[in-house]
Amino acid sequence: MRVHAIEAFDDNYIWAIETNNNDKVIIVDPGEAKPVQQWLEQKNKSIETILVTHHHYDHTGGIAELIKQSPCPVIGPENPEIKTLTRTVTEGDELTVGGIQWQVLTTPGHTLDHISFYTPGFLFCGDTLFSGGCGRMFEGTPEQFTQSLLKLRKLPGETRVFCAHEYTQANVNFALKVEPENAVLQSYAEKVRMLREQEQITLPSTLQLELAINPFLRFDQKSVIAAANKHAESVKNTPEDVFYTIRQWKDNA
Ligand code: ZN
Ligand code: FE
Repeated sequence: MRVHAIEAFDDNYIWAIETNNNDKVIIVDPGEAKPVQQWLEQKNKSIETILVTHHHYDHTGGIAELIKQSPCPVIGPENPEIKTLTRTVTEGDELTVGGIQWQVLTTPGHTLDHISFYTPGFLFCGDTLFSGGCGRMFEGTPEQFTQSLLKLRKLPGETRVFCAHEYTQANVNFALKVEPENAVLQSYAEKVRMLREQEQITLPSTLQLELAINPFLRFDQKSVIAAANKHAESVKNTPEDVFYTIRQWKDNA
């Protein structure tokens, strides 16, 4: 399965997934229509199905125009705010798109409607998990977000993580404040710095790498708990408390 990144806005990625049908791709989170249309034209492909992770405009804003040009199924979470959906899905639903069987995972926290799409080897997680970070907690609670991240953490380490934003450099810079001694993080930060210097994409990441470097997946590591306690100047032990402390720390950094 080949996946292509289409750049949108300042730092969004719209993912184009090749299917068994050579002429068709699955498009994930098209916040803008134009870059997708240009890409399709260039590659001589059309859209099989659009998958949506959550209602935010930078993930849905291009759908209406894309389906006006060439109608296709639009599949996403139950939320009346996403008016272009032709089918809503939730965890446990069977979903076959482009000859690929997908597992839908509910991953609330960034928003309440947020879902992720998984097929062995590939995770499309929108704004739930970023490389080195996670989405801002706009609608959910620390408990929900932590549960969502725990769910993603259980997927196989080799899973490639296709998140929706190029936030990696800022994320790893913050992660280094939490875990300055983390050697894997240090070398990843260097790699990311070099990639971004050449304006290259840092994604996809892998879950195994994220488990080693992402403070928002490491809420039960001693070093991360210690950093959270020091920052909050109080005792934070539960995963939710540690997660929330770090989330607020980053929001105000
Ligand atoms: Zn979002
Ligand atoms: Fe976003």
